[in-house]
Formats: sequence, structure tokens, C-alpha cells
Amino acid sequence: IGAGVMGGGIAAHFANAGVPVILLDIVPKDAPKSDAPNARNARDAVARKGLDATIKSKPASFFHPSRAQLVEVGNLEDDLERLAACDLVIEAVVENLDIKRKLLARLDQVLTGDQIVASNTSGLRIAEMLEGRSDSLRKRFLVMHFFNPPRYMKLLEIIRGAETDPAAVATIAELASRRLGKGVVYARDTPNFIGNRILSIHGSFVMDYALEHGYRFEEVDALTGPLIGRPKSATFRLQDLVGIDVAWFVAQNLHGLIPDDPHRDVLASPRLEKLIGGLIERGRLGNKSGHGFYRKTKGESGGTVFAVLDPETFDYEPQREPGFESLAAAGKVRDLGERIAALFDERFDEDRGARFARAVVSHFLGYAAAVAPEVAFDLPSVDRAIRWGFSYELGPFELWDRLGVAATAERMEAAGVAVAPWVRAMLEAGHASFYRREDGRTTGYWDWTAESYQDLHRDPRHIAVEDLRLDGKELRGNAGASLLDLGDGVLLLELHSKMNALDDRVAAMMNEARELLDDDAWRGLVIGNDGPDFSVGSNLVAVAEAARQGDFDGIRAASRALQEALQALRYAPKPVVSAVHGMALGGGCEVAIGTRRLLAAAESYLGLVEVGVGLLPAGGGLKELVRRVISPAMALADADPLPAARKALETAAMAVVSTSAAEAAELGFLGPEDRVVMNRDQLLWEARQEVLKMAEEGRTPAAEKLYAGGRDLYAALRIAVWQLEQAGYASAHDALIARRVAYVLAGGDASAPRWVDEDVFLRLEREAFAELVATEKTQERIAYMLKTGKPLRN
Ligand code: NAD
Repeated sequence: IGAGVMGGGIAAHFANAGVPVILLDIVPKDAPKSDAPNARNARDAVARKGLDATIKSKPASFFHPSRAQLVEVGNLEDDLERLAACDLVIEAVVENLDIKRKLLARLDQVLTGDQIVASNTSGLRIAEMLEGRSDSLRKRFLVMHFFNPPRYMKLLEIIRGAETDPAAVATIAELASRRLGKGVVYARDTPNFIGNRILSIHGSFVMDYALEHGYRFEEVDALTGPLIGRPKSATFRLQDLVGIDVAWFVAQNLHGLIPDDPHRDVLASPRLEKLIGGLIERGRLGNKSGHGFYRKTKGESGGTVFAVLDPETFDYEPQREPGFESLAAAGKVRDLGERIAALFDERFDEDRGARFARAVVSHFLGYAAAVAPEVAFDLPSVDRAIRWGFSYELGPFELWDRLGVAATAERMEAAGVAVAPWVRAMLEAGHASFYRREDGRTTGYWDWTAESYQDLHRDPRHIAVEDLRLDGKELRGNAGASLLDLGDGVLLLELHSKMNALDDRVAAMMNEARELLDDDAWRGLVIGNDGPDFSVGSNLVAVAEAARQGDFDGIRAASRALQEALQALRYAPKPVVSAVHGMALGGGCEVAIGTRRLLAAAESYLGLVEVGVGLLPAGGGLKELVRRVISPAMALADADPLPAARKALETAAMAVVSTSAAEAAELGFLGPEDRVVMNRDQLLWEARQEVLKMAEEGRTPAAEKLYAGGRDLYAALRIAVWQLEQAGYASAHDALIARRVAYVLAGGDASAPRWVDEDVFLRLEREAFAELVATEKTQERIAYMLKTGKPLRN
């Protein structure tokens, strides 16, 4: 209920998870009465508009626009009774106690069964919202606080009321974690809960401190972004992103709700009020109004540059490069803890940049510790809320541990930042860290009430490769990949080369995996990893070097080795499952789609992008497009291969990359037996279960025949390539590559269509690959990619 930013985004994410949704909003004031002819459209207009905006939102709220078919719109007058048939009703109407109360009163009349009812309020108290409500509703009511945008932000804060049934909470937590893929954090029923409470106060502190000490906004953003483990939007850019009026409203609202919080004054600082009031008065609300703390302008070279606000004159002026020595020095340190420690180094005592960063870090740690017991049940919840809701690299207690709790506490006190009494008590009891670590593993956390360490709760479905390693489960490995024991008789092939690129070391480990599968001890194999991406493709350095030396036989042999390693896994007597997440590009995509079954985390970006470097997929990728896209379309007598073949051609020749796993399925990268896993953390566990299930079924794969369209199909695809070239979508070299792709997809130019062995396609892939790599333009593309990381369209 409520088809605004959050209601639309929440509806979209349930639809992403395959859950049908009814999305309601108010009836427009001037809409016709419900019994007027054709009144429906006009009465549903608000919800429809909200849904349309959600479909168009950027970044995309829906995995694929077709998912919007699961969302049906309606209005709060004609459709309220229909909600009785829903399992879960979430309200995301305006943040207004009176409006929410009236809505809940109406829901109390209609939802008389066992429906669970949730509010997405950012900070209203449950007890107040529920005033006058039935006992039955009180038991079924809780807050589900999603973060914007709901598809992408991992955090879901769950807040239970005094009377909420624990079973309802457990149901929602399971739904959120497994079906929606969210990271659940339980929060106490206090204003703005955990994440927004800490970061509203902290953000205001950072801005106020900057104004007080005369730091420029671009200086602040350079010091409060990735340098200290925070997103690029840092401080003022984040304000522009969220909306300056929205953030100010939240802060003012919070100020009124926390009279006993000694840190609250910063929310209403006169300095901030003058600045932000001035911006709001001038309609400069951030990105949504085109300008705020920054304004987009055209630079000298024609590109977009951002001018920055002068807080005195409210004019915009060019940004200046922050000239802090500390920033330059610390920026080079890779590890976040060491980087921040560097900013505290004595030699930067007089450096304005370091002084600012120290004040920010100290306030962050100091305030989080001060307020934690009031807003959270335990300290890991605080760390998770900050990481999952705001994309910080580390939460406050994780960071503090890295910096050394006692030493940092001394520094904070010396700088006038109070250290919470419970932290002092922990140190005085002789405990040096918030988290207990044993044998390299985090096993417990400091409990501020019990004044002792408690075991850290772990999601039993989260298998971390690092833990497997600590448990001594690594069986063998080289610089490119390792084999680990995933448990229950399942092997894990973990890629861990730079960006998980494929090379001969990875192929060698694939072969070792294949050999191990003959051993009765193993029931199957998962290919996956815990890095940011599954694999970004093949290592081009080796290809470039071989091409330079004219070693085309070597190139042919290398692509044959990858094909053979993958085929051997595909036809192994035990199941092999790829567990894909993040990017699976080029060769990485070929590994993903080449295994017998593919499990993809919801946020998976698959694509055969080889044309970008002047090549084509030669690790079985085109063969797989024939198997997954063209051959199934030819199962019926007299079917026309062209629509499916064109689709496959465009996917490979235009280097289409899916924007989600759901879209990868539309492209044909995922087949009917492959599936999407919503929770990235649970991917390896799910993949292991999949292997076990397949092993139980006991089917061994038989070699399939694939459809080779031959001469006529090749001719038709060449016309498609010609059209792309004429329309300006393809350069001459693109067109040459596309024709080679077409030739492979058609299975060559035999005079009649036939069904052939996979090997026919694999050989065609290798030949076309060797031909392309010998061309000058392809070598230019490879060199350019290696140098710049970007494709060259020559
Ligand atoms: P919004 O303004 O985008 O949407 C609010 C919706 O409520 C609109 O579609 C509006 O038509 C509807 N509405 C207005 N009056 C109504 C009434 N009398 N009865 C029923 N519906 C009515 O707001 P939003 O940002 O989506 O926020 C919705 C809720 O989510 C609020 O409680 C807010 O605090 C919370 N929230 C917002 C964010 C965020 O980042 N925007 C994050 C978490 C939670």
C-alpha cells in the first residue's frame, strides 16, 4: 500500500522474487465515482503512475520489465477487501502518524485472518501506530524497514512490537533472507532504528564540522569516501542523491524524537540550518532539481563536470583538487585498517586533511558506541546495519577492532570524544576487542549486558570459502584456482586469479577436479568463489603475447584445452554446478553456461563479450547458444531457425551483458533447469544442495545432437549482419567478427540442415578464433583493452 518510491520498489522486489503483488494507492480527488462507467482507470491512476515510475526507475527496480506483470494495481477504496487474500500486507504510505493510523484501522476491519501486516516506516513508534488496534492485529504486526532502493540495498531492519508473535517475526525473517535475499537485522523500537539513527547524527556532525572549520565540500567528499571505507557518494554528494530537503526533514524529525540524546544538537546546528535552509529556499534540492551542493555543468572539453557550491555566496565554482599530503599518502595503502591508521600517524598531526578524517572517524566510533545499547540488541547488528544499509566497508566496531580498541579510545578521549562506559568496562575487564577471534576466525562478540563474549550467530546456509580454508579444507591449488572440500562429499573449484580471469592454471585445476570426481569419495563439483565476481573472462596477456610471436598453433591449442576441460566436466559421471554471481563475462560466461547446471545469484551479469577484443567465444560459448537457444526452437517439425538464431547472433555479436540473472534467462544463458538464488551469501550452500540432489537423481548426461542450420541459415544471418552494419551498429571489423559468429552458429555452410555432434561447433569456434586473432584490428583491440581496460571499436 503506497506506490511511491518505497512502495513501488518493494513491490518490484517481491515480483523479482516471483511473488504476485497487489499495489494500492489513494484515489485521485477528481476521479469519477466507482459506479461511473469506465471509472477504473482513473481511480487506479496513482498506483499505476507509481508502478510506471518504478518500471522506469534507474538503477532498475525490476530484474526485467516483464516481472512487472506480477504487480497488479488498484486503489484503497475499491480494492481494500482483496487484501484479505494476501499473506503479507506492507504499508509504505507517507510518513505521517495520523495517516498510518487511519489506514491500520481500516486494515484491522479487513484483515481478520492470519495475514501478517508490516509497516515500512522510517521511525514511527509501533505502539503509537497501533493505538486502538485489535489484539489480533497487534500479534501480527511488525516493521519491515527496507532501504532505498530495495532491490539493491541488502539491509532489512525488522522491529517487533511488544505483542508481536515470535512466529510472525520468524516467518518474515526467513522470507526476507531466502526469498528476497536480504540481510536481516533486528532493531529496537527507537526513533529511526539503527542505521538511520547513527548516520543521521553522524552525517550532520560531518557537515557541521566542515562548516565550522572551513573545509570545502569537495575536500570533505574526498576525505569521507572510499579513503575511509565509505561509498563514493561520501557526504555532500550523498545529500544531493538522497534529496537535501528529505534528509533535512528526517534530521529535524529525529531531533524532536530524541530529547535525551546528548548528541542530538548537531541535527539543529544553526550553521547547518543557515546553509541547508538557504538551499531549500532556492529550490536546490540535489540531483532531483539539477543542483544542490554540486551542479552539473559542461567542461571545456565538452564532458560533464561538477561545480561546487560556495556556502557564503550560494554561487557555484570549479572544484579544486584537495592538496592534503595525508590524503595522497594514505590513498596508496590498500588495507582499510592500515589506511585509516596511516591518517592517525604523527607525521600528519598538522595536516588539515588528516585532522578532518580523524575527527570523522572518532565521532563515528564514539557515537555508535554511545547509542548502540539503546537501538540494537547486540553489536554485530550495528556493524551489519551500517555495512548492508549504507555500503560502508566496515561497521564501527569492526573498524575500531582493526584500529586497536584501547589505543583508539585513548586518542578519542584526548581529542575530547567520550568513550562509552561499556567500552571502558570491556577494556578494564582485560578484553582488547569487540569481536573474539580464534584461529583466525571471528567466533564471538562482546555482549554489553552480560559483560562477556557471546557466540556469533551464523547463517547456517552461508558457506564462506575463507572458513573452509581455515578449517584446512583446501585440497590442492595453484596461483589461478584451488580445490576445496565443500562438505557432504562435494568439491569446490574456486577461481582466485586476478579478477578471476581464466588461464592455463585454471584449466589445469579443472582437469584435476575432473580426475578427483572418479574417486568414490566425491559426489559432485561446484565451481564458484567468494570474490566480487565469478570471472571476468580469459587472461588476454597470454593471447596477446602468443599473437605477437605468431604462435597461432599455440592459441588454437589453448582454446582447445579450455574447451576440453569444460567438456570433460560437462560429461563427468558426477554432477557439476556453476555458482555464478557478479560478472561472468567472456570465458567466465562460457564456464558458467558450459557446466551441467547453473545457479546464479540474482545480481549476476552474464555476457559473451569477446567481440569487444576482436574475438569470438571459443570456449564452448557459441556451442552453448546453439544448444540453449537455437536447438530447442527446432524441436518442432518445420520450425524456422531464423528468429532464435538471430537472437543468439545478437547476444554474441553485440556483446549483450545481462543486467540481472533474470535477464540472463531471457537471453538464454539460463535454461529451464538452471535457477536464480536470491541471497548471494547462500549461493555456495544452494549449489552444494543442487549437486546432492542431482547426484541422488543419478542421471549421467548423454551427448546431445545440436541443430546446424547450414548454408541457408548462414546466408540469412549474413543479411542480419549487413543490416547491423548499414544501421551503424557495427564497424567493418565488427561485421567481420559477426559473420564469423554467424558461421559458427549455423554450424558451417553445409547444403542442408542437420543435427550434429557438439564437436562440430567446437571446431568451428577454434578455427574462427584463430583466424580473428591473426588480424591486425583484433590485435589492436586486445592491446587497447590491456592498456586501458576498455573496448576499442576500430
Ligand atoms: P513517497 O512520497 O514516495 O510515497 C508515499 C505514497 O503514499 C504516495 O504514493 C502517496 O500517494 C501515498 N499516500 C499519500 N497519502 C496517503 C493516504 N492518505 N493514504 C494512503 N496513501 C497515501 O514516500 P516514500 O519515500 O516511498 O516513503 C514511504 C514510507 O517509507 C514512509 O513511511 C517512509 O518513511 C518510509 N521509508 C522511506 C525511505 C526512503 O528512502 N524514501 C526508506 C525507508 C523507509
